Amino acid sequence: MSTFASLEEALKHFFGYDSFRPGQKKIIEAALKNRDLLTIMPTGGGKSLCFQLPALLRKGITIVVSPLIALMQDQVDALQDNGINATYLNSTLRNDELKSRQIAILKNQIKLLYLAPERLLNEKFSLFLEKVVNSVGISAIAIDEAHCVSEWGHDFRPEYSNLKLLRQSYPQIPIQALTATATKRVQQDIIQQLNLRSPDVHVASFDRTNLHYEVQTKDRNIYRKLLRAIRAESGAGIVYCLSRRSVEEVATRLQYDGVDALPYHAGLSDRERSNNQTSFLRDDVQIIVATIAFGMGINKPDVRFVFHYDLPRSIESFYQESGRAGRDGEPSKSILFFSLGDRQKIEFLIKQKPDHNEQKIALQQLRQVINYAEGNDCRRTIILRYFGERYRGNCGKCDNCLNPKPIEDWTVEAQKFLSCVARCQEKFGINHIVDVLIGSRKQKIFQYGHHLLSTYGIGKGRTADEWRMLGRSLVHQGLVGQTTDGYPILKLNKRSWEIFRNQLVVKIAVNQHQTKTSATYNPRKAEAELLFEKLRKLRKQIADHNSLAPYMIFADSSLKLMAQIRPQTLTDFAKLSGVNEYKAHQYGDSFISAIREFTEQHKLPVNLPSKSQMTTLQLHQQGLSVVEIAKQRGFAVSTINSHLSELIEMKQPVALNKLVKAERQKIIIKTIEQVGDMSLKTIKDALGDSYSYNEIKLVRGWWRSQK
Ligand code: ADP
Ligand code: ZN
Repeated sequence: MSTFASLEEALKHFFGYDSFRPGQKKIIEAALKNRDLLTIMPTGGGKSLCFQLPALLRKGITIVVSPLIALMQDQVDALQDNGINATYLNSTLRNDELKSRQIAILKNQIKLLYLAPERLLNEKFSLFLEKVVNSVGISAIAIDEAHCVSEWGHDFRPEYSNLKLLRQSYPQIPIQALTATATKRVQQDIIQQLNLRSPDVHVASFDRTNLHYEVQTKDRNIYRKLLRAIRAESGAGIVYCLSRRSVEEVATRLQYDGVDALPYHAGLSDRERSNNQTSFLRDDVQIIVATIAFGMGINKPDVRFVFHYDLPRSIESFYQESGRAGRDGEPSKSILFFSLGDRQKIEFLIKQKPDHNEQKIALQQLRQVINYAEGNDCRRTIILRYFGERYRGNCGKCDNCLNPKPIEDWTVEAQKFLSCVARCQEKFGINHIVDVLIGSRKQKIFQYGHHLLSTYGIGKGRTADEWRMLGRSLVHQGLVGQTTDGYPILKLNKRSWEIFRNQLVVKIAVNQHQTKTSATYNPRKAEAELLFEKLRKLRKQIADHNSLAPYMIFADSSLKLMAQIRPQTLTDFAKLSGVNEYKAHQYGDSFISAIREFTEQHKLPVNLPSKSQMTTLQLHQQGLSVVEIAKQRGFAVSTINSHLSELIEMKQPVALNKLVKAERQKIIIKTIEQVGDMSLKTIKDALGDSYSYNEIKLVRGWWRSQK
């Protein structure tokens, strides 16, 4: 630690990054205090760094237990490509390789050692570890994919349950468990199974802020739609299908249409599967068309989109699958293609299950996915509610938020709906409540005597679909509770009662599709994209030459920075986020030459944003608010706001509409046209108190950029 003034400096030195992702710093600080830790972060949250950086700052070696042998090589390659001494020991190595690696470990030449769980506890290996403890020392044991110790999890592994013994064998060594699992029960179980000592528990939000969510209806032209969607993207993507047959069919059609695509499913030989996976990792093909068998063991951080050609089985699996996009934090897309036909197909499949309980669970999960697909509310809100998180809504990064359906006040309808829930004794789900409201003559209604309720038929003014839409929206907004074990039953909650008492207005988004497009041409952006493509090709060449995956050379985010900042010297190049000295030395020259060539060829000016402004821009593009950026970077809000207004003035791609409402922009612009743009105070005086300096600055930036 002593050689670095701050953790940020160490981060830059070892990994080249400028700032920590949310939570990382706190976790690393606790690790450095030798605390036991439980870290829960969604995929792409940046878990590895939470044990890797402490490992490099402490004496001795850190052991990383991971169940995925196939991934070890990747992780170690990526570390070595940063100039970090890491290695792994597993069953894929020859004896002499094992030996020489063990010698390197005992000579204190290794900081991070990756191991499969079965090895850690084998007797012979224990003797070796004993030697390590007594010579170089073990600073910590990190247990990746820690949910594998829990039988409650979705991926229990018997060999993980032996990890219980670790605490006994090495009582002094701190243990750091990491997982992306969301359920509380598994989290508790991990603490218990691993016998963690008053662990520092960090649970991150499950919001994947850089993902854009969208649902498209599936009709007869579905394949054309898919093709169009793929052609609109440039990076790597995964298309998930339900069956092997549709995987083959879609992959073949895509190939026929000139898209680089390969299939992946359980029907292929091991060899074909592994070859196709490697081609995808190395960017030899753009698209992998796969059943859900694909993705568990792969760690490709620069997947730019995941499309679901068929309906996923549950929100949880949808979240995990779509979450394979954008692990590197760069903007990425999820599109779900949905049709009622799919729903019937899956319902039919579920009804074939022999076990009644399994059927019930599967149907409930299907219902939740359909709620997501048919919902009019912010998709992010719907997903996060499933994980028990309340999200403020209006994310600006899903189709429902970008093309909002008109919002209407449905307080009275909500009161009718909720009083019907009350009259039915809080024992029924949405469909039954709707049946009562519209005065249905279904047998079930009479059977329960619900035709005698005062709410029977009071909802005839609206269709069943409209009532269902209201019901779904009430659930998504948390205005009524819904049981999650077995059949979903509606339960009134505190907020439902506030609605009864007219203390809460119910607004819902109603169906009535109208699309608005807002694609404006931005010359700066177009240039940066061109250069980005050029740099990507260069990266691919260098990666092939070194037999590495391209993302290991530089992350997409670093290439983007290169394309936007266009550094002309090695010093400037090394300052970019994602570039440390080691990498600057390895690859700097080739990239700088390419950048210079491009700059000259296109006769570009060199008046460009500063590095700090670019960091702000990057965080802004990842969806963080001004306040969040300020907090993360340790700057004042006004500083970040200035960055953004200057970036806007330089025509950099800042989403002004997300920062200042369009109608307010109009009024500010009008005022600037009247009083001039020189003095902010003059503009503010003319506008009055309801406008802030921050807003005015941003809009003035735009106004100036138009000159
Ligand atoms: P997880 O294991 O939580 O899915 P990883 O540890 O694989 O996530 O990290 C995901 C990606 O984010 C990796 O490509 C990693 O290099 C990158 N990353 C991690 N921390 C940072 C950071 N502070 N700044 C920029 N990129 C980061
Ligand atoms: Zn949204």
